[in-house]
Amino acid sequence: MKEIFAGVDIGGTGSRFVTYGYDGLLAQMTMATADLAVGDSDTKLSRLASNILKLVPADAKLLGTGVGASGPVDRDQGIINNPDTLPGFTGIRLVAGLERHLGVPVTIENDAMVAAIAEQRVGAGKHASRMLMLTLGTGIGVALVLDGKPFRGLHGAHPEASHFPIMSDGDRCYCGIEGCWENLASRSALQRMLRPHLSSTIADREVVGQGAKYANEEHIREIFFNYGTLLGRGLLVLQALYMPNVLVLGGGAADQFELFMPGLRASMAKSNHLVGNFEIKAGALGDIAGAIGAAIAAREAGNAARVR
Ligand SMILES: [Zn+2]
Repeated sequence: MKEIFAGVDIGGTGSRFVTYGYDGLLAQMTMATADLAVGDSDTKLSRLASNILKLVPADAKLLGTGVGASGPVDRDQGIINNPDTLPGFTGIRLVAGLERHLGVPVTIENDAMVAAIAEQRVGAGKHASRMLMLTLGTGIGVALVLDGKPFRGLHGAHPEASHFPIMSDGDRCYCGIEGCWENLASRSALQRMLRPHLSSTIADREVVGQGAKYANEEHIREIFFNYGTLLGRGLLVLQALYMPNVLVLGGGAADQFELFMPGLRASMAKSNHLVGNFEIKAGALGDIAGAIGAAIAAREAGNAARVR
């Protein structure tokens, strides 16, 4: 019987599910996070579990499940601590509950970290020794993979390295900082910049893609350039701190990599001489990188347990 793993990436807007075997991706599915978060804790857990099981074929055996979640997660307690962008899943004993429903070991990790694990194992940053990943979505996820291992902070926490000021003014981010990088350079920020120039009938999730279609118009091209500049301001800080050899850009905004790279490069050229250079690549796995990485993390946790 084929041995497989499941990965779920619970994002601020959408959630992705995959099943993954030793030879790669088997199946995938996307759902709106708001639809998954209806009802009490047990209803949410059983809904998550039943969606995972839908992707497990009859001739396969599920050996483990990984969860990636936006914002802070407590890996020891198996809980998401993100009341700002994942209120519907915050505080639920997610790992214990899913283990009960699925009958397999469950791991949990920050969503940027699972995306980074996937890109470092099988994607754009394959085998990079110091790979920094940014996921440009509802917020900005930042993750560093050092010699194949996640870089962690105190008590194993994932550093929320997108919340720092890049301007002395600007709106206040939910973190409390005015002119916060995450608030100015996420995909949501790019959407806000493009929105007034596009038809009001376009759905939020389509705004960046639709905006890109008009990139031959100067004012739209300028918006992408300015967005790249804002992204670059924060990236300079991370580059100085982490000195990666490869940067992988993922998440919804990264699809328009070519359009914002000129602004990003112009902004970074200002002090590149201080911190050295690195390769910048668009993610190879698209918006299911996080779910794939969650499944790979579950597989690796299973292998480590077997060795012990
Ligand atoms: Zn912030």
